[in-house]
Amino acid sequence: MTAILLDGKAIGRQIREVTSKRVTALRARTGVTPALAVILVGQNPASRLYVNNKIKACAEVGIRSSLHEFPADVDSGAVVERIKQLNADREVHGILVQLPLPAHHDIHAVLRTIAVEKDVDGFHLYNVGGLVLGETVFPPCTPYGVMKLLDFAGIDVTGKNVTIVGASNIVGKPMALMMLAREATVAICHVRTRDLAQYTILADILIVAAGVPNLIIPQMVRSGAVVIDVGINRLPDRRLVGDIDFEGVRKKAAYITPVPGGVGPMTVTMLLENTVTAAERQTSGLHAPVDPEALAQAE
Ligand code: NAD
Repeated sequence: MTAILLDGKAIGRQIREVTSKRVTALRARTGVTPALAVILVGQNPASRLYVNNKIKACAEVGIRSSLHEFPADVDSGAVVERIKQLNADREVHGILVQLPLPAHHDIHAVLRTIAVEKDVDGFHLYNVGGLVLGETVFPPCTPYGVMKLLDFAGIDVTGKNVTIVGASNIVGKPMALMMLAREATVAICHVRTRDLAQYTILADILIVAAGVPNLIIPQMVRSGAVVIDVGINRLPDRRLVGDIDFEGVRKKAAYITPVPGGVGPMTVTMLLENTVTAAERQTSGLHAPVDPEALAQAE
């Protein structure tokens, strides 16, 4: 068996065409152009690359974007202050803080400052809570992109065994919640999981987001499984690889995502979609019913 490639670039392009039409329609209807503000702290080269990709993708579908850069040693107060200004700016519809932040920042405190109706990355605790209840407006972009990839390929997840390797707040945990919402049977593994293969071998759909090259080898994969590689790792020879032994596993899986060109372009695509959704909601007066200031004071 040679796995069918799940081409995130091609599927992302199809979705972006629709997003672009939504931008045009919104502008025609209201005169408003969706706008995304991106906050970048420090000089992490991978973060800069991701931010540049997001800004370029915005331009391609007609979304305005602005980049707000801070040096690595900036204190959280200055970042929070900028977020508050952007919250109040009616011409900004989405706000994204590129993660990771340098270690001295309290990431949760920074993310909680973002107005929930502009939280297009879906990391504010209000939107995370919405995800638990199946009511979120802004699903986190990477797991949302994985769901779209599966949907476009016609892969039904209901009742399937889904194993997720990696339990981070931005990928693994929201991925598990989205799968659960679709009535999959979910196992979540992490660095402390004993005998990882015992879980991966059971998976009809295996999703790996650990950040460890070659973590998943063919012996750990069930024949005919759907294998999604979220990992992005730069090897010493500069090659970009995922977490899966791609050449080995593709001979055993039914479907597989490449790295690059799989989940990565889908993440950016869903960010564009969330930004347009935010702009549509704000121009129609559909705000999330919670004031972030009130939430912060309630803690
Ligand atoms: P993270 O470091 O926050 O979390 C990694 C998770 O993997 C943790 O839960 C950890 O316990 C688990 N893990 C680590 N080593 C493991 C091992 N040996 N066995 C089992 N579990 C292990 O990382 P993250 O932010 O979730 O990102 C994970 C990977 O996905 C990274 O390579 C990152 O670059 C990539 N990523 C890609 C996209 C995309 O758009 N394609 C988006 C976000 C992250």
